[in-house]
Amino acid sequence: MFEAETFVTHLECSETGKHYPPDTLYNLSETGKPLLVRYDLDALGASISKETLVNRLPEFWRYREFLPVRKAANIVRLGELMTPLIPSNYFQETLEMPSVLVKDEGRLPTGSFKARGLAVAVSMAKELGVKRMAMPTNGNAGAALAAYCSRAGIESYVFCPDDTPEINVREIAFQGAHTFRANGLINECGRIVGEGIQATGWFDTSTLKEPYRIEGKKTMGLELAEQLGWQLPDVILYPTGGGTGLIGMWKAFEELEAIGWIDSKRPRMVAVQAEGCAPIVKAFEEGKSHAEFWDNAHTAAAGIRVPAAIGDFLILAAIRASDGFATAVSDQDILETQSRIARREGLLLCPEGAATAAALIKEVSSGRIDKDEKVILFNCATGLKYPMPQADEFIDLTSPVNYDNLVKVYGPEDS
Ligand SMILES: *Cc1c(COP(=O)(O)O)cnc(C)c1O
Repeated sequence: MFEAETFVTHLECSETGKHYPPDTLYNLSETGKPLLVRYDLDALGASISKETLVNRLPEFWRYREFLPVRKAANIVRLGELMTPLIPSNYFQETLEMPSVLVKDEGRLPTGSFKARGLAVAVSMAKELGVKRMAMPTNGNAGAALAAYCSRAGIESYVFCPDDTPEINVREIAFQGAHTFRANGLINECGRIVGEGIQATGWFDTSTLKEPYRIEGKKTMGLELAEQLGWQLPDVILYPTGGGTGLIGMWKAFEELEAIGWIDSKRPRMVAVQAEGCAPIVKAFEEGKSHAEFWDNAHTAAAGIRVPAAIGDFLILAAIRASDGFATAVSDQDILETQSRIARREGLLLCPEGAATAAALIKEVSSGRIDKDEKVILFNCATGLKYPMPQADEFIDLTSPVNYDNLVKVYGPEDS
């Protein structure tokens, strides 16, 4: 195994720019904002070339120079493969869009892209001697925390809103986390974690309240750039909850430009939310730099049911700097789009991934996205984790099979 080199120089408050020393356990900055990891990008760029990458394993640790883990022995692995970019025939056939690609993050360990962030956060926690970690979750982050902590021999505590999908709660518990449901939303579960630090000594691993998850999510941007031959797409639609992935990709693009691997062209970053929980969309439309708390948040896409995001100003800054926007879709559109794409082209999107597809349909018709643009949709988790409509056709083998009834022809009515 390789000895990881790292080029981290310091961490930086995302609000004030104040520097903090590297190789230290942190939550937020003194002003209560996320900390961003900074690297010696000249040295990083000199240490690695695009050609070197080609011979590395097809996993996101191939970008180890861009990541903060110092010692290879601390890297916690569960098989973090590179995720495929799958061309969508559906968008070609229904909207004559030739260049829509689905980045299928459901192939990652624990079935979601939360594995990227938690693989790096747990590796760093191991490196820094953490013995107990805790987080609030709508499901997928908790599953990734549980799995990586169990792999690393770290104890984990996970708190879920009581209506978190059953499969998520069970997978979290089954993978070794002490798992609790609470009668509140994710921000209230976050309060349990924050207030428990004194009494329990656990490390608060909430979204953006520790600086290393975002570095893991950053690999989505690095990977996308590499897969597209270091030419970024025109538009990225990202289902936005806490926004780690969007902020992380934006950071990746900055770092890649700084080392000269890409030019200054950026994709328009589009934050997709559900109508029942759209704080970023509201703030974007009102021209604000921070989002207000969203009351009575509800949506079938649990991963984006985040009524308040601590990195809201970073999400909003990235979408504005990219000339992108934020848009919301209804649960009905999400679920219908999910079902159509599954039936028409065999891609089982999660509802959050389907939200990006529904948003694309909406924004092509609004004219904010052109049909010939190169568009990336993020499918962030495997659709298998979510409830699906019942399939209850039955064959009674005590009588002869009636093949005429059995073969049904599906018409083109549902394109
Ligand atoms: C967490 C999650 C999201 C939101 O990701 P953020 O980077 O936190 O905004 C979207 N979809 C799924 C399936 C998720 O688990």
